[in-house]
Amino acid sequence: MSRYGQAGRIEMKQLRKRVLVTGGAGFLGSHLCERLLKEGNDVLCVDNFFTGTKDNIAHLMGSPYFELMRHDVTFPLYVEVDEIYNLACPASPIHYQHDPVQTTKTSVHGAINMLGLAKRVGAKIFQASTSEVYGDPAVHPQPESYRGNVNPIGPRACYDEGKRCAETLFFDYHRQHKLNIRVARIFNTYGPRMHPNDGRVVSNFIVQALRGEPITIYGDGSQTRSFCYVDDLVEGFIRLMAAPDDVTGPINLGNPGEFTIRQLAEAVIRLTGARSTLVFEPLPQDDPMQRKPDITLARTTLGWEPTIALEAGLRRTIAYFSDLLGLPLPETVSA
Ligand code: NAD
Ligand code: UDP
Repeated sequence: MSRYGQAGRIEMKQLRKRVLVTGGAGFLGSHLCERLLKEGNDVLCVDNFFTGTKDNIAHLMGSPYFELMRHDVTFPLYVEVDEIYNLACPASPIHYQHDPVQTTKTSVHGAINMLGLAKRVGAKIFQASTSEVYGDPAVHPQPESYRGNVNPIGPRACYDEGKRCAETLFFDYHRQHKLNIRVARIFNTYGPRMHPNDGRVVSNFIVQALRGEPITIYGDGSQTRSFCYVDDLVEGFIRLMAAPDDVTGPINLGNPGEFTIRQLAEAVIRLTGARSTLVFEPLPQDDPMQRKPDITLARTTLGWEPTIALEAGLRRTIAYFSDLLGLPLPETVSA
């Protein structure tokens, strides 16, 4: 805060941007808060701790420019900020399917509340949308122009349709109220601070390998995903927010490297030196068979593309989980 308090707001605004991050105690949000603080912003982290944890942001609490507020975005929020990153929403299938009604409320009511806030204070607002808006895609790789193949009544719909509706709201606020919006469609992202029990494939495989347990492959493992390391993604967020005002998105952010789930399992086993076997379990309903971003738009408008290869990112993530679980760091990673 400026020594001049509220009265010095105009000067303060020039010195430090006040940035709100909803879902800031989660996996991506905590990395974003860290980056925004490093860049000299005044960061307000809002979270209801459904899937996020104070441990993810404990290291930021000492900074006078970091503030934490326990709040559920399905309720209105009154704060004064210059920019909003709206990330609040459980992201892993087991978490978002735990209370599907609350998941839709978080995406839809959360978007309405944050857009209302942005409108009141004239803030620029970013939405963490998702590759799930493409559903089980019939077009490959997925460009932003593809309208998707989503089952509106399936178990993933609370998340997919909630995020699609949030995109609709962002563009209606943009057209109707001239709001300055940024919509990023995020593809599978991994890295330190993923929740060890969130059931996502990277965290599951690493935790299973470190514990010497069997690796659970759903289906035959031929389905594909493209995995982006968290630091690359956050760089994309920052560039999108800083882009000229006509760059609204939606814009794909993800790593175009495409791997089968079986290849991922084999890479994790190799990198951890684990003796884990592969076990095959039923493929969940509506599980997309393939996914890979077309990032031409991000390359051309933001000059952005991922720089961290899967193996390098996995090594860092394995090191994080071995520390978190108190298990020895595999020699293959420390070497
Ligand atoms: P996460 O679960 O780690 O983080 C979500 C955060 O939002 C958590 O801290 C959680 O407690 C908080 N939250 C949930 N509901 C809330 C509510 N009603 N009010 C306030 N806070 C609430 O997940 P993440 O991977 O960090 O994802 C962050 C955002 O990015 C989400 O919106 C997600 O949909 C989107 N996204 C993530 C990925 C990915 O691969 N990680 C991919 C696509 C989109
Ligand atoms: N998956 C798997 N084993 C696991 C967890 C996930 O085979 O232990 C598969 C899952 O069925 C999906 C892919 O890995 O095909 C990615 O799953 P995740 O939940 O990480 O993300 P999403 O399906 O949302 O892309």
